[in-house]
Amino acid sequence: MSVQQRIYRFGTDEHGRDVTEGSSSMNYILGGKGANLAEMARIGLPVPPGFTITCQTCVEYSTAGNTWPEGALDEIAEAEADLERRMGKRLGDPADPLLVSVRSGAPFSMPGMMDTVLNLGLNDASVQGLIVQTENPRFAWDSYRRFIQMFSDVVLGVDAELFENAITQKKLIAGVRSDAELSAEDLEELVAEFKQIFSEHVDATAHPELLVDGEIVFPADPALQLRLAIQAVFGSWMNERAILYRKQNGIPDDLGTAVNVQVMVFGNKGATSATGVAFTRNPANGAREFYGDFLVNAQGEDVVAGIRNTEPISDLKTVEGLEQAGTELERVFTVLENHYRDMCDIEFTIEQGRLWMLQTRVGKRTATAALKIAIDMVDEGLITREEAVGRVDPAQLDQLLHPQFDASAELDILARGLNASPGAAVGEIVFSSDDAVARAAEGHPVVLVRWETNPDDLKGMVAAEGILTSHGGKTSHAAVIARGMGTPCVCGVEAFQIDAAKKEVRVSGTDIVLHEGDIISIDGATGIVVAGAVPLVSAELTGDLETILAWADEIRLSENGGRPCHVRVNADNPADAKLALDFGAEAIGLCRTEHMFLGDRKNIIQTYILSDDDAERAEALQELLRVQTEDFVQMLKTMSGRPMVIRLIDPPLHEFLDDPRALEISIAKRESDGADEAELAALRDRLRRIDAMSESNPMLGLRGVRLSVVYPDLPLMQVRAITTATAQLIKDGYDPRPEILVPLVAITEEHVQTREVIEQVIAEVERDSGVKLDIPVGTMLELPRACLVADDIARHADFFCFGTNDLTQTAFGFSRDDAEAKFIPIYLHRKILKANPFETIDDAVLELVRMAVEKGRDANSAMHFGVCGEHGGDPASIVKFFNVAGVDYVSCSPYRVPVARLAAAQAKLKRA
Ligand code: PEP
Ligand code: MG
Repeated sequence: MSVQQRIYRFGTDEHGRDVTEGSSSMNYILGGKGANLAEMARIGLPVPPGFTITCQTCVEYSTAGNTWPEGALDEIAEAEADLERRMGKRLGDPADPLLVSVRSGAPFSMPGMMDTVLNLGLNDASVQGLIVQTENPRFAWDSYRRFIQMFSDVVLGVDAELFENAITQKKLIAGVRSDAELSAEDLEELVAEFKQIFSEHVDATAHPELLVDGEIVFPADPALQLRLAIQAVFGSWMNERAILYRKQNGIPDDLGTAVNVQVMVFGNKGATSATGVAFTRNPANGAREFYGDFLVNAQGEDVVAGIRNTEPISDLKTVEGLEQAGTELERVFTVLENHYRDMCDIEFTIEQGRLWMLQTRVGKRTATAALKIAIDMVDEGLITREEAVGRVDPAQLDQLLHPQFDASAELDILARGLNASPGAAVGEIVFSSDDAVARAAEGHPVVLVRWETNPDDLKGMVAAEGILTSHGGKTSHAAVIARGMGTPCVCGVEAFQIDAAKKEVRVSGTDIVLHEGDIISIDGATGIVVAGAVPLVSAELTGDLETILAWADEIRLSENGGRPCHVRVNADNPADAKLALDFGAEAIGLCRTEHMFLGDRKNIIQTYILSDDDAERAEALQELLRVQTEDFVQMLKTMSGRPMVIRLIDPPLHEFLDDPRALEISIAKRESDGADEAELAALRDRLRRIDAMSESNPMLGLRGVRLSVVYPDLPLMQVRAITTATAQLIKDGYDPRPEILVPLVAITEEHVQTREVIEQVIAEVERDSGVKLDIPVGTMLELPRACLVADDIARHADFFCFGTNDLTQTAFGFSRDDAEAKFIPIYLHRKILKANPFETIDDAVLELVRMAVEKGRDANSAMHFGVCGEHGGDPASIVKFFNVAGVDYVSCSPYRVPVARLAAAQAKLKRA
């Protein structure tokens, strides 16, 4: 045995004693499936015995270029012999063979992404034993042909179509329509044909171990079968679709997968056998009911593949011969929920009336269900409020904020299906994943329309706004994946007769034929499919979401457990401010005032920047003062009683000017139109002035506080507007609380001099209005130098707000306007970066923030600290800002506010 244990047993021994070695806490060693099989066995649930080979063995195998670590094969052989002993049966035994399944199981669930082999251990001799034991030749031959088919496809990559074609051929010859009607003799013949296909399509140079007398032969030796199957599962960790899935779901590539080798139980041994998948509660809406599907006389893959229509789990108890197993299953549901204290997702098989548990895990659920289940479980006394808040994934809340159909829209309903994943989507119909990717890349929203999806469709599902399938239930591949991604999905739209080759769909019962490119709308919350584009509206916060967020607020704002975690919003107009208040923002963390210079105000600011007539410029500035004062009155009124951080103008001024290239073109046009010289001269002069303002690196140029130093009129006009609005509102009985923020400071003296003139304006307005004003002035920390001298700056500032967008740009030296398009995707692909630093805060940039907060607080204990870059709405970053950097608030866009409230509460909980 190696130092590190590679193999863990689960289930009982030959005396019925539990010999399980693992537990549910060993996800990273045994994978999710293996850990939970161990846990179920440990708590006495009926689990077919087996053993798990660890994820670390997979990692060792992959990193050594797919070669086995020393001793591992011997350990597997020992575990195999041990399992045979425990079962009193041998793999390949011609009298009474043991059969096993070989399944992958990574630390995180990756549904359908990796490989499985069932019925392993069959060969020409042991199939005879199976016939004798089951007295069912048809079943035995069917198991054998399934094994060859699966083994060939999964382990050796033989084209699955070849086998399907052989089956179709056989049905034609036998004159039957379904697989189930093929006789034992037909299946026996198929076994021979399948072995022939295998011999003809496996490459001898790649697999010399399969050569017998110079010919490729399907392996009869169970030990060889087992080794090859385990290698295939290990290999599937790095297959293309698994890599893509991990990228989508932020799962690291270096975890590896475990392999579970487990005694086969059969759901296809006749009318008292069945197989199914279930959830202990409804994963779509969270209702407390058993939820799922089963199929009588079928193998597990048949249910998930959506090939046969399933029956609802609630009917299981009523099927003759399955009553007892159905009742036992309900008992198991309760045992699992009480044990895991969460909703569980289950796979089971009933073999001749006896229930076996094949898998359980904490079940995936929609955001709606996550909230309901968490709240219900608090009411049921299963979990605490803190646990409930900790369980809801903040990123998933986005689903609830997804658009819905506008209730007032007239709906031209084409068809109905199952409401598989909530949210509404509008897009062009596409019939393949490749088309979905291609059209989406051209900027067209698409709805992927498929008979049923399979793991190869993942890229199309990612690209699509919505997914529609004509077949399959709520536990089908499409439904499970869409729910996980938060993509709207309608399943089982049976009226859609899809012809993917012709790229059209006929809607049965009508003469409607839809083609690729036609627009449809789907509502994943109701299952409705509509022709044309339905207007969408965004959702409101109500019910369960409000409850969870109210609990989250209690936790994050409590004085216990360290500094409270506040959430503000980035808003620059009253509508956004109102929306944010509805979403629970406590204050405005950033008002970008330059956004107030857009639309018809652009002319005024252009005149101010470009005119050389002093009177005209003064007039423009006066006009700007008038409109800005009115803006601030509106905003500060909306936010009465709450702080509002107002940043002085930040971008380089040329951003407000016309594009010089467009101007050049229009000058050339006017010239050729014969415009008069005076007009042309004016235009050329304008172009010259615009050109004179251009800079090579404007984002590192004349912007931020540098504008206040070089062109102080504009920012001081803003200070006057803010203070005038504040004085006026105080007179009117409001409680305005502006906080002025100076952007892009690098040097203490920039801040000091700017603050001096700001204070002068405030004093003037105080004097003129007769109103006492108390307006804090803070610094926006978004340059590394500022962070390094934060203690010095802090002596002159009332607060710090971290602009992590610019701080990331300048810490990395990555242009925030170009990097994401030009090279960050490549950096992510090559694993130079683990995450996009403009999305999730980089640890080194975080360290700059942490250090600046520490220095700032030491120098000026009265200060407060916030973050207002895009990272302020990213759950992973939020936890770090509060718990590592020690800021007082994060500020984000209005729609991210609920997400930030929950993430902030989770940050607080993590401190405990
Ligand atoms: C920042 O740099 O993080 C920030 C909030 O400012 P802006 O994005 O406006 O530059
Ligand atoms: Mg900035």
